Amino acid sequence: MVSAVAPKSAPALHREAYQLAVDARDARFDGVFYVGITTTRVYCRPCCPSRMAYHQHRRFFDSAAAAERAGFRPCLRCRPELAPGRGATALAAVPRLAQLATQRIAAGALNGHSVADLAAQLGVSERHLRRSLVREVRVSPLDLARTHRLLLAKRLLVDTDLPVTRVAYASGFQSLRRFNAVFRDQYRMQPSALRRNRPARPSAPDGSLRLTLSYRRPLAWEALINSLPQEGTVAIEGHSGILSVDNSPADEHVVVHIGESLLPVLMPLIAGLRRVFDLDAEPAVIDAHLSAGGLESLVARWPGVRLPGKLETLEGAQPDAFNANRRSLQRAAGAQSARELLAMSERWRPWRAYAAQLLRLSVDSLPFIPTSPRRFSVRLTAASDLDVLVQPVKCGSCRSS
Ligand SMILES: [Zn+2]
Repeated sequence: MVSAVAPKSAPALHREAYQLAVDARDARFDGVFYVGITTTRVYCRPCCPSRMAYHQHRRFFDSAAAAERAGFRPCLRCRPELAPGRGATALAAVPRLAQLATQRIAAGALNGHSVADLAAQLGVSERHLRRSLVREVRVSPLDLARTHRLLLAKRLLVDTDLPVTRVAYASGFQSLRRFNAVFRDQYRMQPSALRRNRPARPSAPDGSLRLTLSYRRPLAWEALINSLPQEGTVAIEGHSGILSVDNSPADEHVVVHIGESLLPVLMPLIAGLRRVFDLDAEPAVIDAHLSAGGLESLVARWPGVRLPGKLETLEGAQPDAFNANRRSLQRAAGAQSARELLAMSERWRPWRAYAAQLLRLSVDSLPFIPTSPRRFSVRLTAASDLDVLVQPVKCGSCRSS
């Protein structure tokens, strides 16, 4: 499996596969790597609809941050800021510290806080944290944080009508001046330039923000939302608001309407929602593995099955968690005992939780409720809860985009 944060030689090893993926505009690689065009200094998602440069003019990057570090700016057409994040497969090879740090940075841990603060939270020295990130992700903590901020700002500039000042703060910049300077420096354009020639957007109800969260298809959406509560309360930083979520399968993204009051915690909120809806999963890998493990009929019924997370804490589920003592699972799998089910489940590693979810769905007699927008009320309280929000999911499945 190609990995955006795999050991150093990965790009060279996978270069040929990447070339083919770009030639085929293969959406399975969306968010797995990025391609920089050396003639234009623009970087794209592998599935970019623009005509791609010749092979010799392509450079491959593990992450958007690495492409930006090398002086490339994001394509205005395929919009790298909308790509899904890396799945658990890609993260499996990454040491725990780098995983945790990248997750926390994606959730805004360096917005208004120093690398030393983050290192202290993670219980390591600042130097160790920097070296670990550079070694594993090939960018420094500050570069990574800057890319997350810029890409969120780019997304808000294009997809919302928020004033530029509010875009700057919602993206984690500490001042408008700083935002303008960093944006111009990195993207070689004014922030306002992105607002010209924007495509028409559906208007959001009651002044809420309409944002989209991409995923790799397929997505067993109805099974997913029927496994989540109708409403949830999340606690962070004293902010509260409502959000609604719906799927747009033709566009391969989930549409989220976020109340404006949630703007100050937008970055951790987006990262958390990606975890709760398991949007960074790589179904091509998971479905093929479980099918080969004897679950092909269930995979065919629920292609792209996802693990519902915890809405209250915005945590993701662990991809390999498995409780063989559950009688319903034993029955669904046709096992006579927990021991037999446990032995059977070895074939499903490291995706045993997905197997369990499929088995659960197969015995679930509840009729599926037709898909409709789901509203969750989100109440955010207590300053220290940012830690709760970005709390590591032990499997490392939840590196957010
Ligand atoms: Zn592009």
